[in-house]
Amino acid sequence: MPFDPNFLSNFLLGLSAWGAAFLAALWLSLAIWTYRDITARAKDPLIRFLAVLVVAVLFLPGIVVYLILRPQRTLEEEYQQTLEEEALLRAIEETPACPGCGRRTHDDWLVCPHCHTKLKKPCHHCGYLMDLAWNLCPHCGTEAPGMRRERLTLDEALQPLALDFPDDKNEDMGLDFDTESESVPEK
Ligand SMILES: [Zn+2]
Ligand SMILES: [Zn+2]
Repeated sequence: MPFDPNFLSNFLLGLSAWGAAFLAALWLSLAIWTYRDITARAKDPLIRFLAVLVVAVLFLPGIVVYLILRPQRTLEEEYQQTLEEEALLRAIEETPACPGCGRRTHDDWLVCPHCHTKLKKPCHHCGYLMDLAWNLCPHCGTEAPGMRRERLTLDEALQPLALDFPDDKNEDMGLDFDTESESVPEK
């Protein structure tokens, strides 16, 4: 059986055409992949353009360069991380802190164990832990007995008198003072 030299050249021609087509397809798909990947990772159009350019010009080594240099996290992942950080920050801010020493406290603590600052007071009727500034239990509605007088320091008690208003004004001042003191927690 005689060997046909045309067959070999045709075969090599077909093979190289196939190889060229494959390389072209690979080049195009790598460029498309890079574009999609960088779009998910960077907003800057210049960075996107440069990434695709590097891969288009350098081809396979370009992919290696791109994989080394591309932003580690996608925009979605960065957004998720920002959300997580914000949630964490909010959790930290919402954790009650001792007004005396600033350390973390728990909702059910009466006294700070670090600096012995009084944090809460129990309701006389139901034992619900109330903020020091509250004079009414939000749980059962019982008023804290004798609480207003207890909380007055000497200066605070003398303050309305020092202003020396007529009697009716004095009462007004007293009321104002009470509402003011309710909103300011005792430290
Ligand atoms: Zn403390
Ligand atoms: Zn109560």
